[in-house]
Amino acid sequence: MKKEVWKRLFSVLKTDRLFGRQLPTDLASYQPKPRHIRLEVSSKCQLKCSLCITGLRLTRQKGNSIGWGNLSLDTFKKLIKQNPSIQSIEISNYGEIFLNPELPEIIKYAFQKKIKLSAINGVNLNHLPLGMAETLVKYQFYKLKVSIDGTTQEAYQIYREGGNLQQVLDNIEQINHFKEKYNAKYPKLKWQFIIFGHNEHQILEAKKIAEELNMDFKAKFNYTPKKFPIQNPEKIKQDTLQDVSNINEYEEKNQQLYSPACLQLWTAPQINWDGKLLGCCVNHFGDFGNVLQDGLTQSLQSEKYQYAKAMLLGEKPPREDIPCTKCKRYQKVKKLPFRESLQRELQEKDIKHQ
Ligand code: SF4
Repeated sequence: MKKEVWKRLFSVLKTDRLFGRQLPTDLASYQPKPRHIRLEVSSKCQLKCSLCITGLRLTRQKGNSIGWGNLSLDTFKKLIKQNPSIQSIEISNYGEIFLNPELPEIIKYAFQKKIKLSAINGVNLNHLPLGMAETLVKYQFYKLKVSIDGTTQEAYQIYREGGNLQQVLDNIEQINHFKEKYNAKYPKLKWQFIIFGHNEHQILEAKKIAEELNMDFKAKFNYTPKKFPIQNPEKIKQDTLQDVSNINEYEEKNQQLYSPACLQLWTAPQINWDGKLLGCCVNHFGDFGNVLQDGLTQSLQSEKYQYAKAMLLGEKPPREDIPCTKCKRYQKVKKLPFRESLQRELQEKDIKHQ
């Protein structure tokens, strides 16, 4: 065996004994076969939310990596056939999944292949195509998180511009109707409520309605707190049962990112609807090649992808061609104990799959 191969093997076998389990020391090049991926099925959206780059139509501008399009059924099948290790896929990201006309077929195909599909990044659910509620239930779509930031149309539409709250609630009822009809557990539904100054007084009411609709509930902090600023932090803490009322406080207290998207480079790499490997769900600055052309495993092992991981771990300096260099979260990651968060995450994922 060549010296280089021995060296590589040795570096993988060298392990950290963290929490009693073993992890490779060389985390930058650690990339097991993908079991979980994120694959956007539609980057199109009908709403115009003012803090979202899709709502602002920035993803359609030249040079943006996301673009405006749908994943095709053929592409989906191809990717699954080429990567039999895949067990679950998060299909929501910058757009609204229900705008993809091939979604019913994608859901059926995933069901046949025993692959769990989720939309935890979120859906606005303003449009539920005919037959979709039954498809979600019949083919055991796993989890659906619905973004509803208000309990009155007046409050809801301030951020969800163009949205209709009653329509969303009716669509949830439709899904619940089929869950009852089939005596089904899935899809598990969650109500996500972003806390703004204009809706913070509705948190408890939203929680109550969520319960009535058989949904879990999550109140989430605003990533751009200067827009729609909160008014009463103490009441928010009380209503959300948390000891912090915004993202900065959370990150300072917990010494980790509020939404740790950077971990996805290891645990669930994001792929765009057109096959571009983005790495994480935040990245719209550039890509790491195209998995349809180069293959997923090969793209994950590319020098550029591994360099990005080494950068996040603080092992390499920023490099112009790495998308993270343009991302605000990279500046935060550099100040937080990112390696420890990653080790914990890998450990947990590993244990779950024992
Ligand atoms: S720094 Fe930004 S682009 Fe890079 S992995 Fe983290 S969230 Fe994604």
